[in-house]
Amino acid sequence: MSYQEERFIAELAVQRATLFTQKVFFEKAKGTVSKDDKSPVTIGDFGAQALILQAIRKNFPGDEIVAEEEASSLRENKELSAEIWEQVKDIKLQDVEGDSLLGGPIPSEQAMLDLIDQGKSAGGPKGRIWALDPIDGTKGFLRGGQYAVCLALIEDGDVKVGAIGCPNLPVDDSATLSVGIGAHQAESSGNGVLFSTVKGTGAFSRPLTNGSLAASKPISMRPVPDITHAVFCEGVEAAHSSQSDNAAVAERLGITNPSVRLDSQAKYCSIARGAGDIYLRLPVKKNYQEKIWDHAAGDLLVREAGGQVTDIYGHRLDFSKGRTLATNTGVVAAPKAIQDQVIDAVKFVLKL
Ligand code: AMP
Ligand code: MG
Repeated sequence: MSYQEERFIAELAVQRATLFTQKVFFEKAKGTVSKDDKSPVTIGDFGAQALILQAIRKNFPGDEIVAEEEASSLRENKELSAEIWEQVKDIKLQDVEGDSLLGGPIPSEQAMLDLIDQGKSAGGPKGRIWALDPIDGTKGFLRGGQYAVCLALIEDGDVKVGAIGCPNLPVDDSATLSVGIGAHQAESSGNGVLFSTVKGTGAFSRPLTNGSLAASKPISMRPVPDITHAVFCEGVEAAHSSQSDNAAVAERLGITNPSVRLDSQAKYCSIARGAGDIYLRLPVKKNYQEKIWDHAAGDLLVREAGGQVTDIYGHRLDFSKGRTLATNTGVVAAPKAIQDQVIDAVKFVLKL
């Protein structure tokens, strides 16, 4: 199977969903960062999920879907449901043909709720299962920093296709990551990039422009001849991964560059294009289990770009266990040539 149709639909679906998340950001989220109002995230999550699930249902009706959200709370909150519908109903790609491939506009509020509920698959080792995070990095989304719309196709436990839309990352693959990239990116021009990959064919990026598909360019991780010059990417949220352990690993490797903090799978994307080299996600909570939608697309993208992605023990991430990875053993992603060295440092620091 070539999976080119799956990649094409996944790219278009992610692209359309980012039109929606950007609209919600500019109309609802801007300026709410320090307030308690979580509704922009909620609106963005539900709406993006409905739009993407519509595209999958139309094109691949027999496939299962593991998605982060479900609509039961929304069915009880008529006001919120109506607000989401108001934002979703007019979203379309400029490319009319592309938009109709995705199923055109969602026909009704009820249809939107029913679509949101299509993502309840238990996952597992058999069959074709899409994994969707409609807004990964919600805190980054609210800050106007990095967030990502992430979609992957897993077949018999193996990731085959990935598409990740990053509205606030620079289009330019050679742009260096600035340390302050965690915030205020939403206002800059020259941002908005769509990463995609199919197993065995490499990793690609293209502008996340509205309209028909622009040409994708191959991307790859950069060589790291001297590990002491490597750049780390890590999460902004200290509750999601241990920044102090990351710092200890960097020190162990002799790395003095400051780490770059970004929310979401933008970290996988950044190292896959050589803007940064190593992504560490060292566990903080014993009982947390990483979700498959937080890693599937990024895992394949990095591996297709010349990298390796493992847990802290050096084992590949296992997407066949269900809705989660069933463990909390973190993520270590790096160019293949230095992965073992990074794992050794991680084991030393975590006393494994
Ligand atoms: P990041 O932007 O890298 O901080 O990752 C965001 C993702 O972290 C969210 O989508 C959550 O699913 C996930 N998350 C939430 N709590 C935890 C936790 N305790 N450990 C690891 N990841 C978490
Ligand atoms: Mg997420």
